[in-house]
Amino acid sequence: MPLELVTVPCLKDNYAFLLHDPDSGRTALVDAPEAAPIRTALAERGWKLSDILITHHHSDHVAEVDTFRSESEARVWGAAADAHRLPDLDVRVVPGDPLDFAGTRIEVMDVPGHTIGHIAYYVPEPGLLFSGDSLMALGCGRLFEGSPAQMWDSLSRMAALPDDTLVCSGHEYTQANARFALSVEPNNSALRDRAATVAAARADGKATVPSTLATEKATNPFLRAHSAEIRATIGMPSAQDVDVFARVRQMKDVF
Ligand code: ZN
Ligand code: FE
Repeated sequence: MPLELVTVPCLKDNYAFLLHDPDSGRTALVDAPEAAPIRTALAERGWKLSDILITHHHSDHVAEVDTFRSESEARVWGAAADAHRLPDLDVRVVPGDPLDFAGTRIEVMDVPGHTIGHIAYYVPEPGLLFSGDSLMALGCGRLFEGSPAQMWDSLSRMAALPDDTLVCSGHEYTQANARFALSVEPNNSALRDRAATVAAARADGKATVPSTLATEKATNPFLRAHSAEIRATIGMPSAQDVDVFARVRQMKDVF
C-alpha cells in the first residue's frame, strides 16, 4: 500500500507532516512545532510515531521533538553537522546518504541558506520533498546564516527534481508571498491565477501547502531568476541568475 501523507497545521502558521506506511505501521513526523495538533492527528488515525525527521534547528521546528521522543520512543533524525544545536539525535544524517523508512528510500539533501545545516528530505517514490524553510510555497526562507549563492544553489537543486514532486514546506506564508511575487512579476498569468486560488483557499481556512514543484517553477520568484519580466522590474536584464536571486531576496526582506 502507498505511503499516506498528512499535513498538520501547528502554532500560528507552521506545518508538520506525518508520513505513514500502512504495511509496517511506521509513522514519521517531519518537524515538531507543537504537541497538541500532532497528538490529535496521530490519535485520530491510531498511528504511533516511529521516527522524527528534523529539517533545521529553529525552535518553531524542533520545540516538541523531545516531548514526542519520550512519549513514543521514536528515533530522531537530524543533520550530523547541526547535532550540537539540535535535540538529541538517534540518527545523525549526512546529506547524500540515502535513508530507509520502512523500505522506502529517502534522500537527504543539503540545502543551506536559511540556516547552515538545513537539510531537506526527498522521497523519490511517491515524490515528496520535505523542504522546511528552504524552498517554500511561493517563497524561500530568509537568509539568516547562508549566502545568496548557497541558497540559490540549494533552490536550483530542488528545482531540478521531477515536476510532480509535492513540496511539503514548513509555513503558511503563501498569501503574503504572493503579494511580493506579484510586485516583481505582475504579468505572470500563472502567478496571478495562483494568487487568486491562494486567496480563496485562505478565505476558506484551507492550507496552501503542499504545492507541486511545477507550480513553484511557474510562479515562485525565487526559482525564476531567468524571468525577463523580473529582470526588467529590478533593472538587471543581463545579470547572472544568482545575482538576480540575491536582489529579489533582498527586496523581499524589506517588502
Ligand atoms: Zn526556520
Ligand atoms: Fe520556521
